[in-house]
Amino acid sequence: KFITFEGPEGAGKTSVLEKLMKDIKNMDIEPVFTREPGGIHIAEKIREVILHKDHTEMDPRTEALLYAAARRQHLVEKVIPAIESGKVVFCDRFIDSSLAYQGHARGLGIDEVFSINEFAINGVMPDLTFYFKIDPEVGLQRIAKSSEREKNRLDLENLSFHQKVQEGYQKVLERFPDRMIVIDAEKSIEEVVNDVKTALKRVISF
Ligand code: C5P
Ligand code: MG
Repeated sequence: KFITFEGPEGAGKTSVLEKLMKDIKNMDIEPVFTREPGGIHIAEKIREVILHKDHTEMDPRTEALLYAAARRQHLVEKVIPAIESGKVVFCDRFIDSSLAYQGHARGLGIDEVFSINEFAINGVMPDLTFYFKIDPEVGLQRIAKSSEREKNRLDLENLSFHQKVQEGYQKVLERFPDRMIVIDAEKSIEEVVNDVKTALKRVISF
């Protein structure tokens, strides 16, 4: 099984996944926790290139292609072998991030970005996706309260960008309603972890 976690920054995906990682140890599955862009050496290197603060001149199509390249390598090296050996893969971000960020928010077009990603993923789509929905302003406030590094990013990606990301995810949700579960990410982290666990129990038997 392949389960992805999506949503804007500040929605709490990473924190919830960390808590889930501890809780899930007692359950009867073999989980693999990973993230995008990254998760393996080559893809972490690509992540450094994409997210480097000096790379402000990066063209949006270059960015979209690099995300897709990192995704491909991560799938082949880590995700597909894990799925094939019966493990459950929990991945922080996947294709929907590209559709919402590069496709909609950066204006490349969701169809265009989907087509380069179809080439990259070659048929491997998530079985289930948790979309962490949060008001863009609430998300931004959470980021502002966290680390200095996140604050620097905040200057680059302002509220209007976050609103576009939100719109992008809404369109993704309309396109793939069957695999997406909307999670109210404005709740406390404990509540969100519980909501995710409840939903997970319906699709995988622990
Ligand atoms: O998931 P995480 O918050 O670590 O993502 C790192 C950064 O990459 C964030 O600033 C996120 O907004 C950005 N990102 C992006 N396009 C993607 C995936 C992530 O702009 N497809
Ligand atoms: Mg995160």
